[in-house]
Amino acid sequence: MTDVDRRDFLMGAGFAAAGAAVPTEAAAIARPPKEMPPQAVGMLYDSTLCIGCKACVAACKAANNMPVDIPEHLSDWNETTWDSAEDLSGHTLNVIKVYRNGTVEQKDREIDGFAFIKRHCLHCVDPSCVSVCPVGAMKKDPVTGIVSYDPDACIGCRYCVYGCPFGVPQFDLNNPFGKIAKCEFCRHLQKDGKVPACCDVCPTGASLFGPVKDLEQEIERRLAAPAGTPYRFPRGKLGEDRPPNVGTIPSYIKGIYGEHEAGGTQVRYLAGVPFPKLGLPTVGPQSPASLAEGVQHTIYYWLIAPLVAFAGLAFLARRNAPRPDADNTPKSQGGRS
Ligand code: SF4
Ligand code: SF4
Ligand code: SF4
Repeated sequence: MTDVDRRDFLMGAGFAAAGAAVPTEAAAIARPPKEMPPQAVGMLYDSTLCIGCKACVAACKAANNMPVDIPEHLSDWNETTWDSAEDLSGHTLNVIKVYRNGTVEQKDREIDGFAFIKRHCLHCVDPSCVSVCPVGAMKKDPVTGIVSYDPDACIGCRYCVYGCPFGVPQFDLNNPFGKIAKCEFCRHLQKDGKVPACCDVCPTGASLFGPVKDLEQEIERRLAAPAGTPYRFPRGKLGEDRPPNVGTIPSYIKGIYGEHEAGGTQVRYLAGVPFPKLGLPTVGPQSPASLAEGVQHTIYYWLIAPLVAFAGLAFLARRNAPRPDADNTPKSQGGRS
């Protein structure tokens, strides 16, 4: 190797090393979290208003053509005549669960009380399911923020099942093509100007639909009013002309579930019992999607170093390779010219 060649190589290696050094800082930095679209629609579930009637579960099934779900241990007495879903599944997009403690005497009380909780997709602001889906089958609408699922695009890899911090997407094992089931905010109904089925049917307004900005104001009003204040709880869709549920403000616990979890969601929860007791997962404010994509990009960035080193080596190899028109080419060595 001549001096010039050596310098070329060292320059290439130095460039590669510089490329490798920068990402050590970038490695710790996630990409910025995504923002909620200004026109985003969402849902408020107020556990204190829920009476556990499960009308929302039945309406969700009917609106989304979901078959009944009967756990095996209940099938004997149920005789497959009544839906008795115990959790989200390939056939169940929403479910009402109950918290019970001690004597189970009083509703919305942590000790010796009980409370209801509704589970379905929270339509994350920066959804992990969208981030991990390799074929774009999970999509977030840029206007409404609804996270939708395209069964035709889905390849059944189940990355979304493992990626969701709230345990929402369910793989339908009974479907020969293994599709995913999750709430899509009844977007097919919304297209026709209708209210999502669970909110439309809820008799108390426990499940309330509306623009997220308006729901946030509604939440603020409820939390600002002292317990016992008379209150007209809207039903169906916020701003809709529907008779309200007239009652009083309950004793809410502090906090709004879904406001910050996983970078924020378009479904918000109010309750009288701490959220972890209601079975809502404890999820930090960092969007897992922003963290994972930040790490991914850092890894790609790191790959620049070996690529640059490879380019340097390729350059040198090319420089040192014999040229067809040079004196020392096989042609000249053959001495036949
Ligand atoms: S709750 Fe899960 S399935 Fe729903 S948008 Fe968030 S990551 Fe996706
Ligand atoms: S919005 Fe529609 S799909 Fe989602 S839980 Fe309510 S009824 Fe079911
Ligand atoms: S319909 Fe309303 S009150 Fe009845 S279980 Fe569902 S959320 Fe609760």
